[in-house]
Amino acid sequence: MRLSWQERFAETPGVFKSPQRRQTVVPVLDFAIGGDEFITMAGPCSVETEHQLMTTAHHVRRSGARILRGGAFKPRSSPYAFQGHGLEGLKMLQRAGAATGLAIVTEVMSEEDVSLVAEYADILQIGSRNMENYSLLEAAARSGRPILLKRGMVATVADLLRSAQVVLDRGNPNVVLCERGIRTFETATRNTFDVTAIALIKLISHLPIIADPSHAAGHGDLVPALARIGVAAGADGLIVEVHPDPDKAWSDGEQSLDFAEFDAMMVSLDPHLAIRQKGREPTTQRFQEAVG
Ligand code: PEP
Ligand code: MN
Repeated sequence: MRLSWQERFAETPGVFKSPQRRQTVVPVLDFAIGGDEFITMAGPCSVETEHQLMTTAHHVRRSGARILRGGAFKPRSSPYAFQGHGLEGLKMLQRAGAATGLAIVTEVMSEEDVSLVAEYADILQIGSRNMENYSLLEAAARSGRPILLKRGMVATVADLLRSAQVVLDRGNPNVVLCERGIRTFETATRNTFDVTAIALIKLISHLPIIADPSHAAGHGDLVPALARIGVAAGADGLIVEVHPDPDKAWSDGEQSLDFAEFDAMMVSLDPHLAIRQKGREPTTQRFQEAVG
């Protein structure tokens, strides 16, 4: 007897699609994540300078992004690497958001910083390294801001859904999941983009899920292909690292796109988005019919 998906993920009933809850639509400024519009979040890995952030924000806005990303508090693999500008970085993000109309997503790394980050950001990002930090998740949930929950680098889909359930249980329904690649035996790429997780989550969960091709690939030249694959798998949006001069980036330059590369990627998504519009996830529809 095959286990149904509901049985397999019985621990997290709240994230499951049901007749009452087919799709969570997360409101952000004057648009939404999880609705009909495919949402692109773009910007540098780290907020570095006013000029770097402003030029990037204006550029990605013109090319169709809705949300500016950028780290002010940075979790780095090395304790000696740039850790972010903190409050100054948040202020730069706020100015760039105000100048362009872009919403802001930025990472919050510790419970103590939640209320500060929530003052400046429209969406709080919980990074991979903190996906299972339940006290941080609870504090972030209580802020009332939408949460972008990135999958841990060694987390299963069940682990990711469990963390999402923690946020929902604290009364915050606005969770956006993010597949950003997981660790496998492969070393040619930074991580392995688990596209199956996107397809599975679209099938079983009402929560929106976006793809992060930048951290999945670790190499800018692979990012556009992974972005297109994310679209084909049904992702509700993308988060992509973009930098005016990736070779000079203070963090994650190797995986960042320059402006021309970002534009080319965005144009290359269009036919894939158009196909999706026509077909509108037949497997998901069948599942929805099956659950009621
Ligand atoms: C980031 O978005 O820059 C980041 C640190 O991502 P992750 O938590 O997925 O490694
Ligand atoms: Mn990064």
